[in-house]
Amino acid sequence: MAKIVIALGGNALGNTPYEQLELVRETAKPIVDLIEQGNEVVIAHGNGPQVGMINLGMATAAEAKAIKSDMPFPECGAMSQGYIGYHLQNAIGNELAQRGIKKEIATVVTQVLVDENDPAFTHPTKPVGAFYDKETAERIAKEKGYTMVEDAGRGYRQVVPSPKPIDVIEKGAVEALIKDGYIVVTVGGGGIPVVRRDGLLYGTPAVIDKDFASEKLAELIDADLLIILTAVEKVAINYNKPDVKWLSEMTVEDALKYASEGQFAPGSMLPKVQACVQFAKSKSGRKALITSLDKALQALNGQTGTVVTG
Ligand code: ADP
Ligand code: MG
Repeated sequence: MAKIVIALGGNALGNTPYEQLELVRETAKPIVDLIEQGNEVVIAHGNGPQVGMINLGMATAAEAKAIKSDMPFPECGAMSQGYIGYHLQNAIGNELAQRGIKKEIATVVTQVLVDENDPAFTHPTKPVGAFYDKETAERIAKEKGYTMVEDAGRGYRQVVPSPKPIDVIEKGAVEALIKDGYIVVTVGGGGIPVVRRDGLLYGTPAVIDKDFASEKLAELIDADLLIILTAVEKVAINYNKPDVKWLSEMTVEDALKYASEGQFAPGSMLPKVQACVQFAKSKSGRKALITSLDKALQALNGQTGTVVTG
């Protein structure tokens, strides 16, 4: 029996709420396989399309004066954690019931601490939400203090920084729930980014990479294993090239060498490998695994996936 943090990628949730409700039924199966084997499971997930949809919808409605206000980015993140959590609670709960396993699932709306002095804040990189013409973008930037940039000829958009996670504010609640036997959904979308000023926490418009937030959580709750579930069964070197080589394992040293050679795409595989490296070297005996959703159980049993060891 192990304490496992599972990070779900975009392919586990899909792009619309309808697609998501369908997909999570499949997502629930490998997760419940791990639970059925007696593991303590904590689930983290991405929220790119979901938070984008909420932000864009609210901003568009507010510009059209259909509603009184747009929805600030941290609140959009909280909303996405809520409905994704509901879908996971529903699907995993139904799967558990069908297998006769008596366990409950709880979603924790989670804040993740970032540092205001993180260099990411001086150069925001993640475009979010609606496209505007120059004039509207300038007005909104002035009104709300947003950073707006021109995005690939399609118009102007808000950009937010992607700082590194430092702490998970609700980690105590997560641990208490695990101790009481609950399956926990937490740090959704990398968590709601908060900064600390004079001892108080304030939500800030930013996007924390869900792979890094999952890793931080895994360290904080002293997990044995971090499993990053994504669209590929294994990590490759020479990916998309004729001499592609799929890896069953990587030491931290191998991973760093491959990363420095540019083997992992920034924004997709690179943060996953970096998160695995960080976890594997954080304490002796900790390992991390990257595989696809449908292969989770086989990978846990050492039959597939890419394992990263210290
Ligand atoms: P997620 O939503 O799970 O975070 P991403 O699309 O961000 O998924 O990242 C996973 C993708 O990374 C894979 O589907 C694959 O296309 C891509 N990728 C980039 N480099 C590699 C590599 N070296 N080995 C395997 N996959 C890679
Ligand atoms: Mg990703």
